[in-house]
Amino acid sequence: MRGRTQETKTMTPSLPEDQTEKKSPAIFWVVVPCFNEEEVIEETAGELRARLMAMIEDGLIRPESRVLFVDDGSRDGTWEILRRLVKADPLIAALRLRGNGGHQNALYAGLMEAKDYCHVSVSMDADLQDDPDLIPAMVEKFYEGNDIVYAVRKSRRGEGLFKRASAFGFYRFMEAMGASIPKDCGDFRLMSREAIKALSLFGEDRPFLRGLVPLLGFPSAQVTFDRRPRKRGRSKYSLKAMVRFALDGLISLSARPIHLILIGGILLFLTAGGYLLCSAGREPGVRQILASIWAAAGLTLLGIGVTGEYIGRIWREMAGRPRYIARERIGEWGGNITPGSN
Ligand code: UDP
Ligand code: MG
Repeated sequence: MRGRTQETKTMTPSLPEDQTEKKSPAIFWVVVPCFNEEEVIEETAGELRARLMAMIEDGLIRPESRVLFVDDGSRDGTWEILRRLVKADPLIAALRLRGNGGHQNALYAGLMEAKDYCHVSVSMDADLQDDPDLIPAMVEKFYEGNDIVYAVRKSRRGEGLFKRASAFGFYRFMEAMGASIPKDCGDFRLMSREAIKALSLFGEDRPFLRGLVPLLGFPSAQVTFDRRPRKRGRSKYSLKAMVRFALDGLISLSARPIHLILIGGILLFLTAGGYLLCSAGREPGVRQILASIWAAAGLTLLGIGVTGEYIGRIWREMAGRPRYIARERIGEWGGNITPGSN
């Protein structure tokens, strides 16, 4: 058994502690962010409830397990439907957020809530694109000792050409920028309570979860699935939201764009400056004038690049990421360790 972090010892009273060996059944929560999903939410709740019931009957998870819907400020009837579902079914819980903060934010909020009540969670979309039949296999992988289980898309049936092409391009571009994200993993993912607690230490303003989770460094496994078409309703990711999402991912995970500007500036300045030096003494012609312009442009870029380096440092400081996440503390530590400190 791996060592547990110090934080693990401070359990919320509502959470029984005897699951930490990953042997006895866990309390399991499914976290589902939803925004204007009135067309599909009831069906999703039904599907998930059936899976949970079966898993409880099989003794895989405990009866205190839940499906948590996070309503991300829906403007349609989603919340009313959720209210009704919660009343009728003790397996379902719902959290309503103020305003529409976006998918990542809603998911983050759900995970932060869930971590105080469950040993393990799975996050997924509300539209049944993520196959609920995969859930038991993911939970099995958790019992095998994995804190994170990624559901990797083998195929993206039912997604338009633009969506598939942009997703393909995005993951490869991010890799080129030095921010590697497991390819074709969305946010359909299992996370143990320990992994969510570690994630909660990342003080990011705009969490880009699928990039941050691999940074946690917990033991992980994969299952693969065919991504299905959306059951009902339309995608809630507008083009603007997708661009925002991609930029958040890039900026929160990579400082390489700033380095590239700096290097470009240096190269431009050196080439143009070198040319000017070599042609010194000759009659000034169009080439020299052009070279001076390029040298000045190079110098400007270099200036921006250097400034950017400093801004990059500030950005990292502002993000307030933990320097490291403790995996284990052994020996006599006494009683004066602040829980969660590293
Ligand atoms: N979603 C959300 N807030 C938003 C946009 C989307 O909570 O502002 C939810 C949405 O209801 C769904 C999930 O995030 O459960 C993924 O969104 P969607 O299925 O529209 O994205 P796609 O699968 O098309 O990328
Ligand atoms: Mg979807």
